[in-house]
Amino acid sequence: MTLSYHIAASSSVSALIYYATRSLALTAASFIAGIFIDLDHILDVVREHGGNITIKDFFKICHNARFDRIILVCHGWEWLFIGTALAWYTSWNHWILGALIGVTHHMVLDSIHNSSNLRSYSLIYRWRNNFHFDTIFTKLTKIKYNSQ
Ligand SMILES: [Zn+2]
Repeated sequence: MTLSYHIAASSSVSALIYYATRSLALTAASFIAGIFIDLDHILDVVREHGGNITIKDFFKICHNARFDRIILVCHGWEWLFIGTALAWYTSWNHWILGALIGVTHHMVLDSIHNSSNLRSYSLIYRWRNNFHFDTIFTKLTKIKYNSQ
């Protein structure tokens, strides 16, 4: 999904959270996490294309899925289990719970939009497939080769 869609989705979810709870911490954490989880794309872009790229190139690489391997260290269903345990352990701290909500809705939308299966957003699944992009993201692989 593109940045603008994530901003729109994160704004909508966070507005609902604020309407329901009036918690600024919960709202802010959800909004921030729902957008900035995508910062992990920087690691993959730099790893594959080097650090000497423009912001325009960065978005072009991401939107056209120009990756041989993809790690996406922050995009993992596994983090949601850890986040849920951490939120529970902290008595549902609003910053942690909000971040968990933000990451969850972001990953659900990414999964629906970018992937043909739920496993694509599992860190373990990607690791077991040697982070090979074309194996993991078959739906995006079509975009990748159609845009060349
Ligand atoms: Zn994402």
